Amino acid sequence: MPELPEVETVRRGLQPVMEGHMIVRAEVNRPDLRFALPQRMTERLTGARVLALRRRSKYILADLSTGETLLIHLGMSGRMLISGAALGAFHHEHPAPAKHDHVVLDMEDGTRVTFNDARRFGAMDLMETAQAEHHWLLRDIGPEPLGNMFDEDYLVARLRGRNTPIKSALLDQKIVAGLGNIYVCEALHRAGIDPRRAAGRLSATRVRGLVPIIRAVLQEAIEAGGSSLRDYRQADGELGYFQHTFRVYDREGATCVRDACGGTVARVVQSGRSTYFCPRCQR
Ligand SMILES: [Zn+2]
Repeated sequence: MPELPEVETVRRGLQPVMEGHMIVRAEVNRPDLRFALPQRMTERLTGARVLALRRRSKYILADLSTGETLLIHLGMSGRMLISGAALGAFHHEHPAPAKHDHVVLDMEDGTRVTFNDARRFGAMDLMETAQAEHHWLLRDIGPEPLGNMFDEDYLVARLRGRNTPIKSALLDQKIVAGLGNIYVCEALHRAGIDPRRAAGRLSATRVRGLVPIIRAVLQEAIEAGGSSLRDYRQADGELGYFQHTFRVYDREGATCVRDACGGTVARVVQSGRSTYFCPRCQR
């Protein structure tokens, strides 16, 4: 499932082909994805110019010249494909329509953006731009981990008195936006914090130390995604999935990478999801 860095990578890949450009043709091939698609979606998108392409948590938001905003959520398996791009050396012919191509947007310069989603856990919606932050999928989401609202004092205050494990607390989208299983495991390893510890029982010093680590883990992944963008465009126009090396995630049984630790990465299940950590250096 794409997490914040993957979604940000997709956004950055789409930005040059969508931002500032008009959608001249919209094709909507289903009435629904995870939820019903908006009424008259084709008409509402046709002729609209994309003024800005931004991200909130794991949602991509395209602000349109019509006063509406298109929300895009990749879900579990959603993919954005660019074809026919007139961007420098990267030129792809439009591929034949594929199974699961649910929404196709043709931009005025001939570029095509296709949303393909085999499992249909993705979502799209249209809303008034002025009301975007009140959309039901967005209104309860906490601050962006790379934004100014997420800082040491905030996190200390939000974790105070919580009995839930620190891992679950960091996955809680109301506390911080966009963190998922992979990057929470990675951040806790870097911070040397046992993911099973009660959030409210960590010292304020240790919680404060988590904030810059969370930011660094995400920033590094975004940078890795950015450097992969060119490769993916050259390959097949698909955005957002890149090779990335993890310290603990999906490394059960491997030797801990922390200098002089010598521990072995373990896996436990918390709230139905795998947690990877080093029992020796994460306390
Ligand atoms: Zn270790």
